[in-house]
Parts: sequence; C-alpha cells; structure tokens
Amino acid sequence: MQIPLSRPDISARDIEAVTAVLETPFLSLGPKVGEFEQAMARYAGVRHAVAVNSGTSALHLIVKSLGIGPGDEVITTPFSFVASANCVLFEGAKPVFVDIDPLTLNLDVSLIESRLSPRTKAILAVDVFGHPAEWDELQRLADRHHLKLIEDSAEAIGAQYRGRQAGSFGEAALYAFYPNKQMTTGEGGVVLTSDERTAMLCRSFSNQGRGQAGQWLQHERLGYNFRLSDLHCALGISQLARLEHILLRRQRVADEYRLRLQEVRGIELPYAASHVKVSWFVYVIRLASHFTQADRDAVMARLKASGIQCSNYFAPIHLQPFYRNMGYKPGDYPVAESTAQRTIALPFYNQITDEQLDRVAGALRQAMDAL
Ligand SMILES: *Cc1c(COP(=O)(O)O)cnc(C)c1O
Repeated sequence: MQIPLSRPDISARDIEAVTAVLETPFLSLGPKVGEFEQAMARYAGVRHAVAVNSGTSALHLIVKSLGIGPGDEVITTPFSFVASANCVLFEGAKPVFVDIDPLTLNLDVSLIESRLSPRTKAILAVDVFGHPAEWDELQRLADRHHLKLIEDSAEAIGAQYRGRQAGSFGEAALYAFYPNKQMTTGEGGVVLTSDERTAMLCRSFSNQGRGQAGQWLQHERLGYNFRLSDLHCALGISQLARLEHILLRRQRVADEYRLRLQEVRGIELPYAASHVKVSWFVYVIRLASHFTQADRDAVMARLKASGIQCSNYFAPIHLQPFYRNMGYKPGDYPVAESTAQRTIALPFYNQITDEQLDRVAGALRQAMDAL
C-alpha cells in the first residue's frame, strides 16, 4: 500500500457546502465570495481580504498593487516555492536573493542590509514550511530603509509570531489553498491587508480592472480574471470553520513523527523557535551535514521503493533552469543550497494513521542505516 505525500481532508459538510452553491444561480461573484473574504480577514486579523484563484495570483497582485516594476529590486529567499520569486519577475522587477538561517530555513535577516541598493523597493519574506519569519526584525529593517514588506504566508495559515497571526505582517500578505496546504479550496488564494488602497487595487486587478462602482463594462485599469468562484469560496468557508481542528490534528502528527524519529541516526528534525507557533504544512527532515545530495537521493529512492512517497522540498529557486539563464549560479547561497541537498519531505496529512507513521519511521531508519 502506497503512503502518499499529502492528501486533502474533505468532509461530508464540505461536499454539502459546495453542492448547495450549485443549486443557486450564483456560481461566481455571488454571496459566498464576500462571506469567505470576511471570514479570512477576521481570521488573519486584518481589515481586508481579496479572494483570488491561486496563491500565485495573490502574490502577483500584491507586487503589482505596491507599484513594484521595471528597475526595482525585491529582497527575497532562494529557499521557497518558485512562485514567491516569480511574482517579482511578472512585473519586470528583479528578485535579489538573500541566504537563509540554517535552523528556521527563513531569510537570514542579518544578511539583508548588505544586499540593499538604491533600487531596492521591498522585502518579500516567506513563512517557510509554516514557521514564521522574523517579522519584528524585518519590519524594523523595512522602516529604516523605507521599504515595503510583503508576507508570503501561503504555507503558514494558523501560525503565530510572538502571539500575532501569520498573514497579518507587512503591507500585505497571502494564504494559499492548493490541496496540499493546511486547508484547501481546490485552487485558490487570498490577499490580506489592512491598507485600503492595496485592497482596492488587488480587487480591481483581479476582476478585469473594474472600478469600485462595479459597472460591468467599465475598466479603469488593465486587469486580469483572477477571481475565485462561489463554489471554491463555499469550500473555503466550510474548511475554515474546522481549521483549528485540522491544525491540532497536524500538530499531533508532527508530535508522533518526533517521537518515532528522534532516535534515528544521522537526521535532524524540524526546528521551531520558542517565540513562534508553527502551523504544520509539511514534515521536512534533513540528513546531517556530513551527508551528500547522493546520500539523500539514495534514502528517497529506498523510501519510494517501499511505497512511501517523499519529496526534496525545496530545490533552490536560483538554481531552477530559467533562473540560471539569468546568471544565478551554484555557490551563490551556500546555506540554502546545502540545506536543499539534504531535505526530505515525509508523508504528512490529517488522516495518516499511527501504523503508517510506524512504517515511514521504520523505512527511514533502515534507509539511514544502509548509508
Ligand atoms: C503554495 C505556495 C504559493 C502559492 O501557490 P499556488 O499553487 O499558486 O496557490 C506561494 N508561495 C509559497 C511559499 C507556497 O508554498
């Protein structure tokens, strides 16, 4: 029996919520959109939420609405999902990568100042794997240098930094709802901001550039169709209603992994700083620093041969083929690169059983012993 890497958690109520929308005439631009947005804004503790069709669209609209464009530079992390740097390229600006902290795997704030230039417009930090970035220090730096601050909280809904909710930091933040995230809408994302103008612009750009008056055939700016349908929003409302339960379950799975893996020779378990609450997105272990990428790949091959899916989250963004064509190269960000060579994301989802966790732990122990 295969153990998948991730699995969405869809309840009978979720299904009812979606099918109920199908019985109404409002499949899009209906009442579920506003309801979902209000619930999301309340959850994050911000004034405005704009539902869009993906986390990537949310990132793109935030960058665009903050006026970042050609000639501008944005400080960001090379250790993330590719969308968190692509959104800068979409608008013709340049991502300037800064290496990561080897424990939290988030942007190393102490390295940022040396990478600033007169062109730097913003810092885009990611709450990687559900562990919040260092928001107080990032905000202080942004204030000192008059930079915008953007929070990519796609992987961190429900996480907290010094008691404050992930998704509430900087000028604007986002959550994402692809099926492997903590909660899902199938595809989807949401922009979160307390800034009225940013919210207005994101809403307009997501809806064909229409203005606030909402006239159907009046387009005030070049817009996109990045809308999220009422079907998706109904699923989101239903999932959000039991998010606390989902997050507790994921915390328990992470705790069970720790119990089973702490004795395994040669691996490091995920780190959580004492001033944060992690929202478990994935469970990523690392081989100890003396192991090589070939060792890691051998362990992954053994896990897969025993029917256990796993993945190498993340391959560094600056080493993706089209980033290399822009001049980034191996050796540029040594901590991100050395980390990326040794990570393995293990199967992680709400319904995983203790017996499956035993199987994963046993197979990992055997694979490590075989190195
Ligand atoms: C998932 C994710 C996104 C957005 O992904 P979509 O698939 O477009 O919803 C953005 N940034 C990070 C760090 C992510 O993990």
